Amino acid sequence: SDEVEQFDYLFKIVLIGDAGVGKTCIVQRFKSGLFMEQYGSTIGVDFTMKTIVIDDKKIKLQIWDTAGQERFKTITQSYYRSAHAVLLVYDITKEKSFENIEKWLEDVRKYTGNNVLKVLIGNKCDLEQARRISTEKAKLFSEKYNMFSMIEVSAKDCCNINESFINLTKELVSLH
Ligand code: GDP
Ligand code: MG
Repeated sequence: SDEVEQFDYLFKIVLIGDAGVGKTCIVQRFKSGLFMEQYGSTIGVDFTMKTIVIDDKKIKLQIWDTAGQERFKTITQSYYRSAHAVLLVYDITKEKSFENIEKWLEDVRKYTGNNVLKVLIGNKCDLEQARRISTEKAKLFSEKYNMFSMIEVSAKDCCNINESFINLTKELVSLH
């Protein structure tokens, strides 16, 4: 159909965090409801579009995933441009990925506006037995850095994935 798509809001959401924390799996899970163990680099699209409806408002989400650049620490300014929200993702079983959130926050400070919404996401909560970062520690960290929220998710088990995007979108609607 060549019908022009109508929507009430358009928000740009960007995902950052170390390579391997599960950013691509989170986006794909939200987009299609599927989980694949491995996404080839050819999947490395710049962004995914998903339209959701909340309270009769049609909201278009433009979700940016890094296409693997984070492996080389070369995420550029243009990736962050005009972002409404930033999802900072770590792996609850990898201490380093949590420590590096501070480094990712430096990028956020440099490249985004003051009122960008920040959400801390602890992925792989299906691996409870291998957990290295407590929920409490992450919660305190998110408060220290004035984040909108902290949530633990599992792209594998589909735990809290939709909730993360919906809560964030509701907040964006209330702010715009
Ligand atoms: P990215 O580099 O941040 O985009 O990470 P990927 O989405 O490519 O995922 C990296 C690896 O973590 C892959 O082997 C995934 O199968 C795995 N993975 C992603 N999400 C989960 C999860 O929720 N639980 C578990 N157990 N593994 C996950
Ligand atoms: Mg990826």
